[in-house]
Amino acid sequence: MAESSTLTCEEKQHENVPVYEFIDVNSKEFHIGAFRDLWLDVLNPEVYSYGEPAPEIEDVEFIEEMGIEPKTLEELKSICSVDSLRSRHEDTDNVPSDLHLSTLKLRKRRQDYKETLTRDTADRHEVYANEMFKFVRAYQTLHVLGSQKLSDLRDAICCVSDLQVFGEFSNTPDMVPQFISKDHYKSAFFFFNGTFFNDTRFPECQDISKTTREWTRTRDFPEFKTAKMEDTSFYDLKMKVGFPYLYTHQGDCEHVVILTDVRLVHQDDCLDMKLYPLITHKHRVVTRKCSVCHLYISRWITTSDAFAPTDPCLFCDQCFRMFHYDDKGNKLGDFLAYAYVDPGTFN
Ligand SMILES: [Zn+2]
Ligand SMILES: [Zn+2]
Repeated sequence: MAESSTLTCEEKQHENVPVYEFIDVNSKEFHIGAFRDLWLDVLNPEVYSYGEPAPEIEDVEFIEEMGIEPKTLEELKSICSVDSLRSRHEDTDNVPSDLHLSTLKLRKRRQDYKETLTRDTADRHEVYANEMFKFVRAYQTLHVLGSQKLSDLRDAICCVSDLQVFGEFSNTPDMVPQFISKDHYKSAFFFFNGTFFNDTRFPECQDISKTTREWTRTRDFPEFKTAKMEDTSFYDLKMKVGFPYLYTHQGDCEHVVILTDVRLVHQDDCLDMKLYPLITHKHRVVTRKCSVCHLYISRWITTSDAFAPTDPCLFCDQCFRMFHYDDKGNKLGDFLAYAYVDPGTFN
């Protein structure tokens, strides 16, 4: 085939069909909206639109197709109804706790064992997560719609640093304010392919990518662009599947964001658009227990604390108060106390 410097129409289309940049690692960059359009061009709309026809229309079509009377249809409906398959008594799956019969004991043991098993479905996200496990565990997996804005994804990402409460409260442990960092520090950005997508929805938002961009200007980096997170939908983006991108919030809390799949909605996906971005997986984090009782999740962290075995030291609320205050709530000794939010809060 003769080489040509101009792209033919077909070649242009192929630009947006994902191909590997590095085999089994990540794809080359492609335009998500254009990739979707390529699919829609070749697929019959029946294959990807899951809107159900109105029941009345379905009824009329059925009557015509079968050549029956409307009365017969009603009769068929009641005979074939799913309700007619239900037994009239409730069958709970719970084995009674009062176990005299050996059969029940066995059933109970099997039931307890079953509950310890984790579901093992291997879709592409899971496969990816399992591969990643050698290095790092994906903390959270979300399904997001192409039509959604980057800010919708931002709002769905759970991170404890959004929940921190700033301040030292050893003198006023009952007066920890309800404001969390998310209410105070709303700036954030995604960094995709040389562009910083900043959140600018609120007046207090700042461009926190500025420092980085200024730093790169004094080095030999290409010029980075900025755009608004809330004005950019996923359809607008050119992305690489499998490539590590960056999400930064709370100044310097950084998260790796990886797009693991881009596809049309399936029949067995959640079809309620309002529920997206949809969290499909959240990795359970080990909770940090109180260093005294080793039982409850920590609520306080102290420093310069003569009562504590370590510095800093974690306490549950009960142990913290028992060790550091008398009956009347007076502070005992010198220490600094900060509210602690456990990473396992989202478990
Ligand atoms: Zn974070
Ligand atoms: Zn405790």
